Amino acid sequence: TRILGIEGTAWAASAAVFDAARDDVFIESDAYQPESGGIHPREAAEHMHEAVPRVVERALEDARETHDGPASEPPIDAVAFSRGPGLGPCLRVVGTAARALSQALSVPLVGVNHMVAHLEIGRHTSGFDAPVCLNASGANAHLLAYRNGRYRVLGETMDTGVGNAIDKFTRHVGWSHPGGPKVEAAAADGDYVDLPYVVKGMDFSFSGIMSAAKQAYDDGVPVEDVCFSLQENIFGMLTEVSERALSLTGSDELVLGGGVGQNDRLREMLGEMCAQRGAEFHAPEPRFLRDNAGMIAVLGAKMYDAGDALALEDSRVDPDFRPDQVSVTWRSDEPD
Ligand code: ATP
Repeated sequence: TRILGIEGTAWAASAAVFDAARDDVFIESDAYQPESGGIHPREAAEHMHEAVPRVVERALEDARETHDGPASEPPIDAVAFSRGPGLGPCLRVVGTAARALSQALSVPLVGVNHMVAHLEIGRHTSGFDAPVCLNASGANAHLLAYRNGRYRVLGETMDTGVGNAIDKFTRHVGWSHPGGPKVEAAAADGDYVDLPYVVKGMDFSFSGIMSAAKQAYDDGVPVEDVCFSLQENIFGMLTEVSERALSLTGSDELVLGGGVGQNDRLREMLGEMCAQRGAEFHAPEPRFLRDNAGMIAVLGAKMYDAGDALALEDSRVDPDFRPDQVSVTWRSDEPD
């Protein structure tokens, strides 16, 4: 199976080809970089308009080069696209492109949930059977585990996503987007100062800690210390709930997904927690953590193999598409 994936939920215009026989993923991405502030939905959609045709053409070139069937055959078996969650104006551009391509190439259309893709890529690259997944991305933060045909949300943020929370602090400080890598760099020279830490059962909240961090910065606390403490508390919260999820489900496998998963301190904390309880921890390589079409193509292939294609009239995008709305057709082998 060879699947073309297209991603465009927020900032990454990305296209990929997953060749299942060779377990090979080709990814071409073009990032939207805001001139000031955070992501502006209209500008991001304009970026999609401009960049999606280019990245798709590059991915299709790769598909044609590596295709050994007759030239009359399409070089791919299906087109998979990110249906949501994400910014409506961006999703609509990508949805239109995916529908047009599936029509033009006469191949099925597969609609992928972006958050489930962040999770499944880790299951794919780890080979783990039934992991708990921590999705630590820009606009989201969830703990997910599979049960009875769905990925259940065991815990989640009660306000903003984890990356967006960090980016709000860096905007306040005047650093350019995205802020996560800058906080990570500054934290290397910091010491701990007290900031809020909010976990309620399996859920957590970032708004209090972000306000306190901005206040601390305004009060003259060195920015390195604020960054260090932000990381310790935010990632400590994510590690605590991940441990609770492992304990609750009895799973001994944890996978990490999402752009914030590129952070070394978060990976270190999760790795140590797993080692202490005899669980295995896996974080995919960075190109699969940040938004990318590779994860859309990989999950698209599983869905395609399970016969999970979309009729054109049912292919509308969904900016609020939750992971637990997806019927998991590709894991039918699982016991209840
Ligand atoms: P979603 O997948 O929820 O739609 P998203 O589209 O914003 O989110 P991702 O690519 O998953 O995108 O994550 C982007 C976020 O990752 C940004 O908020 C960015 O600041 C953060 N990030 C990137 N690198 C790091 C890092 N090293 N440490 C912390 N955060 C990081």
